[in-house]
Amino acid sequence: MTNVLVTGGAGYIGSHACKALKAAGFTPVTFDNLCTGWEDAVKFGPFEKGDLLDRPRLDEVFAKYQPVAVMHFAALSQVGESMSNPGKYWLNNTCGSLNLIEAACAAGCLNFVFSSTCATYGEQDNVVLNEDSVQLPINAYGASKRAIEDMLRDFDASHGLKSVIFRYFNVAGGDDEAEIGEFHRPETHLIPLILDAIDGKRAALTIFGTDYDTPDGTCIRDYVHVCDLVDAHVLGVNWLRADKGSRVFNLGTGSGFSVREVMDAAAQVTGRTVPFNEGPRRAGDCTKLVSGSTRAEEELGWTPGRSTLDRMIADAWRWHQSGHYEK
Ligand code: UDP
Repeated sequence: MTNVLVTGGAGYIGSHACKALKAAGFTPVTFDNLCTGWEDAVKFGPFEKGDLLDRPRLDEVFAKYQPVAVMHFAALSQVGESMSNPGKYWLNNTCGSLNLIEAACAAGCLNFVFSSTCATYGEQDNVVLNEDSVQLPINAYGASKRAIEDMLRDFDASHGLKSVIFRYFNVAGGDDEAEIGEFHRPETHLIPLILDAIDGKRAALTIFGTDYDTPDGTCIRDYVHVCDLVDAHVLGVNWLRADKGSRVFNLGTGSGFSVREVMDAAAQVTGRTVPFNEGPRRAGDCTKLVSGSTRAEEELGWTPGRSTLDRMIADAWRWHQSGHYEK
């Protein structure tokens, strides 16, 4: 058995990663406290319920499965909440990750794939980001993730822990077979909220800020298809197992879309109108986050082939309309 420990495997991205790992011949072992995940999304390998802050439980799971690598997704990820309750982010994301890193080192599991974020870059002048862009996060979510990146570098120097760090931002779309998909409660992400507004699950979408320095005044983000994203993570495990060493990769498409452009695309794909109103800015939001992925393409052989806006919205819409959404 070639086990990979997947923290957050019951969540949106983690469950898609488990499916991709299984397809690549690994056994994904999900470690998740179900604070935002769903047990019925754990379909592709064993489930171990546990909290990253519980070190004895982590030690037990490492001893039981002896994973060849860790894929670490478990984290809180709401920018707005991280501004109102930063302690929750520093405790769960940063302290939780420290526990996990120490447990991995103690167990001799020295391959670590980490889900980081372009939010670590913060506000930059209208540039397409690359891995060498300066990291100056403007919200506690991004800061909590940057600190974990720093830890990984330190534990490489001290313990030989090798990491592949993926920095990405707006993940969208879903599994081809709609076996799993995006399901957050509360939902805060743009595309599922637009789909909720379209089919009347909520009254209207509120656009957070229309006075940004962008062509239409709304924020610009780079959207990556979740299946492309998790493919990169499997390539990351193989990279580490081939002893290629620690490396950071941005995962983006190099193209950004404004909130209004995403709404227009959703209207087009679904053939419906998007009820919306305009509200104030949300704390912690950057004007524009767009990330190229030249390094991932050249060095990992990654291709974000499914990451067109129409495809991501169509996949999300299919999942949205399936019975799964109503559980
Ligand atoms: N957004 C919005 N209304 C909403 C939710 C999000 O206008 O109800 C905007 C948000 O301000 C940001 C973009 O949509 O500019 C993407 O936000 P999301 O929460 O999906 O992801 P984030 O970029 O925060 O990771």
